[in-house]
Amino acid sequence: MRLPVAPPTATARLWLAAALSVVAVIGGAYLLESHGYSWAAAALVAAGVAAGAARFLASSRADRRYAKVLENEVATQTRSLVDSLTATADAERRLRLVMDAVPDAIAVLDRDGRVIDLNESAKRLLAASPDAGTGRNVFASLEPDAAATVRERLSAAFRGEVQRFEVPGRREDNSKNLCAMLYAPVRERGEVTRVLALARDITDQKHTEHQLQQAEKLSAMGQLVSGVAHEINNPAAIISGFAQTLLLDVVKPEQREMLQMIYDEASRIGRITANLLAFARAGGSQRTLVDLNDIVRRTFALRSYHLTTLNIAVSLELSPAEPKFWADPSELQQMLLNLLINAEQALVSVETARTIVVRTVASEDEVRLEVADSGPGIAPEIRAKIFDPFFTTKPEGVGTGLGLSICYGIAREHGGRISVDSPPGRGATFVVALPRDPRREGRPLPEAPAPAPPATGTVTVLIVDDETALRNALLKFLGRRGIQGEGVADGGDALRALRERDFDVIISDVRMPGMSGREFLERLGRERPALVARLIFSTGDTFAPETAALIKEAGRPTVTKPFDFAELERVIRQVAADAARRRPMASA
Ligand code: ADP
Repeated sequence: MRLPVAPPTATARLWLAAALSVVAVIGGAYLLESHGYSWAAAALVAAGVAAGAARFLASSRADRRYAKVLENEVATQTRSLVDSLTATADAERRLRLVMDAVPDAIAVLDRDGRVIDLNESAKRLLAASPDAGTGRNVFASLEPDAAATVRERLSAAFRGEVQRFEVPGRREDNSKNLCAMLYAPVRERGEVTRVLALARDITDQKHTEHQLQQAEKLSAMGQLVSGVAHEINNPAAIISGFAQTLLLDVVKPEQREMLQMIYDEASRIGRITANLLAFARAGGSQRTLVDLNDIVRRTFALRSYHLTTLNIAVSLELSPAEPKFWADPSELQQMLLNLLINAEQALVSVETARTIVVRTVASEDEVRLEVADSGPGIAPEIRAKIFDPFFTTKPEGVGTGLGLSICYGIAREHGGRISVDSPPGRGATFVVALPRDPRREGRPLPEAPAPAPPATGTVTVLIVDDETALRNALLKFLGRRGIQGEGVADGGDALRALRERDFDVIISDVRMPGMSGREFLERLGRERPALVARLIFSTGDTFAPETAALIKEAGRPTVTKPFDFAELERVIRQVAADAARRRPMASA
């Protein structure tokens, strides 16, 4: 066995050369001498040996210098290699920190959709899939349609085109979401070798956008609807007025029946326009402290007979925790009525058990009203449209498409929201969540109207309305009831008429061309303050914010078009009686 021999170091070599020289000189001299050579020859040989040793020594020094240079070079190269490795590791670490700090998912994909690299958000986004991480395939967790889209977009990105698209997916908790994707080609030496994929969960953003669009659409629709409702209201009021006047006459029974029908239908138009205006209005409703359970009981009582005849079983699951809150009771009733009627209409189409559950739930911040039916439910493709005004799937004459849009308007007015849940085969559940807002000033419910003073004595009325036919209808009816009057088209004419003669009562429209009801009130207040107490406002839309504000500020009685003439007469006589009581003081 050969043992490895370590090469001599530079110093060892130096010592070796010196020792050899000395030994050679001494040895050479001795040998020469012993073989009979002269000292001169011996000296010559020794000098030769010494020269050889010196040369050996010189070459050994050059070797040493070269070795030193080599050593330094190796050390420098090693240092720079270590530095550059450290810098690369640092850069990679920083890049990773930056990637992980991005809330959007970032992944690098190869041509087959395999994940080569990904950040923390991408790991979370892909966590729904069992084989999340690098090496997995992005198509694995996608629905077939979404996977086809992604495949197509990825190929386009590998062709060098930047791709932006949206794709449905699933979150970590397996819930569905929608992602906005960006695929950017990564080029190396002019060739696309990888694709950088960015994904952002835009589910909430989409939802908010959708709500905003819905609100904008409804607000535009509201303006249109309110304009139409105003236009329809006046003719309806005129028809209703003449029908009521003719009903005062002694007419044949069949004529009476027809007149009554004309009056009923005109009143129906009035109710429809009131509904339209309720949907379109932006505020002005009266709030009071209401008990939601109470509203449910009362509204259910209105429909209970009808529900029984349709073989529909209703159960009321009312919250024991007193769901009281500030709201407009008549609007809440209207909302529940619409939901109940929809449930009824849905249930008549099913032969299986017909049930409706009305539930109230109260928490500290909100009250919830739920109406669940066991009907056919609502198909996903129309779910987004059912709150749109005029959207209906019911035959003509049955559906108007306004019920749910009114509910939407009422919920929004109360600062709440309405939603529907309809899993396949499990009917439909409408949920209305309304905040309990104690800051809103409530007003007590209007008290039952006082009985009208007896129809004695002559009462004179000034009617201010730009609709000639409506003024005539009113004057005719009132004339039959012993109330004399005069009609004028606007506030200016009214002030002139009041300068010429006295009227016990003034009925003024709120919305008139030229001088508005508010301006008329102000002018009357300045010129004839005593007459303000004789004023009654008439309006087709008590919900319009400016009308509601005027009525509230003026504190004057208001009659709504189309008029119920009997009610109008009662208010006129009441105001006339109050004015008569004040008269001595006013003239004093
Ligand atoms: P309308 O009842 O006049 O059609 P709505 O605005 O109240 O108008 O309702 C719009 C549509 O929503 C209905 O035509 C119907 O298709 C659907 N819908 C409402 N409530 C229900 C329900 N409880 N079950 C099934 N479909 C419903």
